[in-house]
Amino acid sequence: MNLHEYQARDLLKVAGIPMFDGDVASTPTEAEAIARRLGGTVVVKAQVHVGGRGKAGGVKLARNPAEALECASQILGMTIKGLVVNKVLVVPAADIATESYVGLILDRATQLPVFMVSDAGGVDIEEVAAKTPEKITKIAVDPRYGLMPHQALTLALALYRDWAHVKAATKIMMQLYQVFMNNGASLAEINPLVTTPDGKVLALDAKIIIDDNELDRRPDLAVLRDESGEEPSEVQARRANLTFIKLDGNVGCVVNGAGLAMATMDLVKYYGGEPANFLDIGGSSNPEKVVNALKIITADPNVKVILFNIFGGITRTDDVANGIVAATKQFEVKVPIVIRLTGTNEAEAFKILEGVGMVAMNDMDAAVSKAVGLTKEVA
Ligand code: GDP
Ligand code: MN
Repeated sequence: MNLHEYQARDLLKVAGIPMFDGDVASTPTEAEAIARRLGGTVVVKAQVHVGGRGKAGGVKLARNPAEALECASQILGMTIKGLVVNKVLVVPAADIATESYVGLILDRATQLPVFMVSDAGGVDIEEVAAKTPEKITKIAVDPRYGLMPHQALTLALALYRDWAHVKAATKIMMQLYQVFMNNGASLAEINPLVTTPDGKVLALDAKIIIDDNELDRRPDLAVLRDESGEEPSEVQARRANLTFIKLDGNVGCVVNGAGLAMATMDLVKYYGGEPANFLDIGGSSNPEKVVNALKIITADPNVKVILFNIFGGITRTDDVANGIVAATKQFEVKVPIVIRLTGTNEAEAFKILEGVGMVAMNDMDAAVSKAVGLTKEVA
């Protein structure tokens, strides 16, 4: 789950990371009032779940409340990379001497939290990584011991020469590590971390991604979700307790179990097709889940065929069959459905489907190649 900058800043603040106090506004007049309260020059910043807001015109300096009102009315309602801006953050503007990048990610390759810092900050870190990888310093952290003071110092020394800056940045590294660990983050990033002409080190931007698996035990974080920045079908799936990830292909997949879902997608690819989604309806066999799954998949205009691949263990295949029948009664499914069922109660399942004129199959290979074949026919 992505946090907005203003939400991420709250978490950094709790950990003691230095930054200016600001406030968030949903209307230009609110932004004006905040600017008046703060006094002096402020920055008005679009709150959307994308990077590169600066380049897109979503970050503007305002010298007084009237300009803040003007900037906010330009930024609110604008679209950045497909997302509409509903809120702006208003904060006192910092004088910038240097801009650095400080990020902490959960690295899949090493299976460890990895710090990345660079004194080429402010710009896209992906660009730095691609063009001048030598400008990035990386340190993996062993979570059993946490970030060691000497590691934090090494990171800070990669950014600064001035001892006061190094000391301040070392502390910020330790604090950022705490934010990352304490909130179950998969990414925590400050870009830019700036120095000011009067010697301060400040966080000017904040990006945090919380691992979705953390949210059940952290209702305080779960409420921070902003669904307006998310893929609508994924929002709908989450509400229906389905594990769903939208993809770009045309074979809609309904599968029970993540492993089987992955294998199914592999097999779709093997037969020359492209999956439209990853969907795991889970172990329990609740016909309602099947109805919801079909609703979500049929809403995707790219889908040319729907492929069920159900292995009945705990899942009762007759429940799945009942779900398919219930769904087709509730709404018209305009694309062909290929059903592969095997395992618990499969004889009943086949009968239920035959009762409405649908044919199920037993063999996974046959079902997948048939589904892929159908996408080519309809195309
Ligand atoms: P992003 O483009 O979405 O990453 O948004 P940022 O918050 O990182 O802002 C982009 C750029 O705007 C920064 O790299 C700075 O150069 C500039 N900027 C942001 N806040 C301030 C500020 O307080 N003072 C000044 N002078 N520039 C700022
Ligand atoms: Mn930034």
